[in-house]
Amino acid sequence: MSVETQKETLGFQTEVKQLLQLMIHSLYSNKEIFLRELISNASDAADKLRFEGLSKPDLFEGDAELKIRISFDKDAKTITLEDNGIGMSREDAITHLGTIAKSGTADFLKSLSGDQKKDSHLIGQFGVGFYSAFIVADKVDVFSRRAGLPAAEGVHWASRGEGEFEVATIDKPERGTRVVLHLKSGEDEFADGWRLRNIVKKYSDHIALPIELPKQNFGDDQDNPTAVEWETVNRASALWTRPRSEVKDNEYQEFYKHVAHDFEDPLSWSHNKVEGKLEYTSLLYVPSHAPFDLYHRDAPKGLKLYVQRVFIMDQADEFLPLYLRFIKGVVDSNDLSLNVSREILQKDPVIDSMKSALTKRVLDMLEKLAKQEPEQYKGFWKAFGQVLKEGPAEDFANRERIAGLLRFASTRDDSGDQGVALADYVERMQEGQDKIYYLTGESHTQVKSSPHLEIFRKKGIEVLLLTDRIDEWLMGYLTDFDGKPFVDVARGDLDLGKLDTEEERQAQDEVAKAKEGLIERLKAVLGEQVAEVRVSHRLTDSPAVLAIGEQDLGLQMRQILEASGQKVPDSKPIFEINPVHPLILKLDSETDEDRFSDLSRILFDQAALAAGDGLKDPADYVQRLNRLLVELSA
Ligand code: ADP
Repeated sequence: MSVETQKETLGFQTEVKQLLQLMIHSLYSNKEIFLRELISNASDAADKLRFEGLSKPDLFEGDAELKIRISFDKDAKTITLEDNGIGMSREDAITHLGTIAKSGTADFLKSLSGDQKKDSHLIGQFGVGFYSAFIVADKVDVFSRRAGLPAAEGVHWASRGEGEFEVATIDKPERGTRVVLHLKSGEDEFADGWRLRNIVKKYSDHIALPIELPKQNFGDDQDNPTAVEWETVNRASALWTRPRSEVKDNEYQEFYKHVAHDFEDPLSWSHNKVEGKLEYTSLLYVPSHAPFDLYHRDAPKGLKLYVQRVFIMDQADEFLPLYLRFIKGVVDSNDLSLNVSREILQKDPVIDSMKSALTKRVLDMLEKLAKQEPEQYKGFWKAFGQVLKEGPAEDFANRERIAGLLRFASTRDDSGDQGVALADYVERMQEGQDKIYYLTGESHTQVKSSPHLEIFRKKGIEVLLLTDRIDEWLMGYLTDFDGKPFVDVARGDLDLGKLDTEEERQAQDEVAKAKEGLIERLKAVLGEQVAEVRVSHRLTDSPAVLAIGEQDLGLQMRQILEASGQKVPDSKPIFEINPVHPLILKLDSETDEDRFSDLSRILFDQAALAAGDGLKDPADYVQRLNRLLVELSA
């Protein structure tokens, strides 16, 4: 061992300490994944060196055969992983192996329940990477030197995973990283050639660079390293370059876990080789669950970009629109130059056509999933539906296809599950119905009993119930589906078209005429509070309802704007009354103007409450109501 200088002991970031604690206690049932994680890191390190080596060939230091070597020592109970990738400087080791840079980590860790079973699932979503070494090891040594740094600037990082780590500067002639795991007692089963070989085959066969283990017959005599003969145990070719028919499902799945840093299998994937004017291969995956930081602005998104098999960058987000940011995978281009940069990607017209082709691939894949695996699609929708809803606004050209992938709750099913596809809705439309009806609101409970639905219930017409925060905004971009316009049932002057008979129309007109006097009296009382008062044909059971003006913002949009500190344009509701409701009849015959005023205002406030809108003056409402109650009980 070489001399260690500048030794110091440092504390892990709080989040790392928490993660280590949780991980050691919750990932015990699948211990062997530590090897997959460390191999994945070594492979990334090789990718990075290859990329940096494009412009700085000196970094290869005369050794361009990148590989990973795994050895073990049964007596010392150690496993050693060595790579000749990019390596780490002292600073790199301190930051990369001492902190977690992902935003939202602290919140994520807080959300863990302490229930080991549940948490092991959640930690899987988070991705543990390097720290998984501590599942099997009670001490981990990392010896590393960054490519290009002098031999004297190597680093030795060591930790028992308990809150602190040590770093020292060492001499390390060979570039790259060597990780030595000192196995916990009881974990010595891993210091075994067959076991390691099996784990590598199982999880890391797809890794593109050779993973070498000591040849079995020499395997146990590792005291004398010259006696070791190395043998490649994985397939060692980039998985996406192989023909689809030759790649097994479990290989696709393991590759996904490497690319996406995910613990769980993907829902679906699409592997395509494009030849012709543009040449590229893509392998795109739909994850089975949302990452913990899906809604963080700086959460990783985009594909891994390769150019002619050479890794170029992670998170190349120019190849897919934002609303598909949950898609993971690889794109390998033959047309781009090896020194392509983000700036070039943003301007290159080749990227635009790749982007639109890849977008179509993803939409194809989702359509197929929805059709062939509706149960799985439900899971997809739960995880990513909200993100997909951004689609129609961002991607006008594909909005009909995106609309087809959306799922809604509707009056057909009381549970509030978002399971109705627009195509199903259209298929169930009534004779004479030429519009798709929807209602937006705060919550399912609120909308499902909204007075606006009464006439639709009566006529047996299905209405979509939209209660996600972005739904009203979304509907601003969806004007029609399958040639049928969307109509907000709470908006404007509801026209049911052919769904109303001629007699019904005539009756409505007559009633409206008959109530003109009442309408005028109501206008006088409600005055500035309303844009209009009119007779409703929306209602069967409720006395009154508030409708939104055709061009006005609905409640959700007003709330979004208010929350973002913007000034919300003033708009007044339309007050509609049910001319046959006993309360309205009573109101019509009320001659005492004070009581008329109290009752009118109470009806107006009730309609506002039913709309999910708060009352401007709740105390006033209560006083009026109590006055009436006292009169009633007198
Ligand atoms: P992730 O791989 O998800 O970023 P890890 O905890 O596995 O997280 O690793 C943290 C960082 O440590 C890596 O991003 C990388 O910068 C560095 N690292 C880990 N292993 C190696 C290695 N073998 N060679 C070079 N750098 C490494």
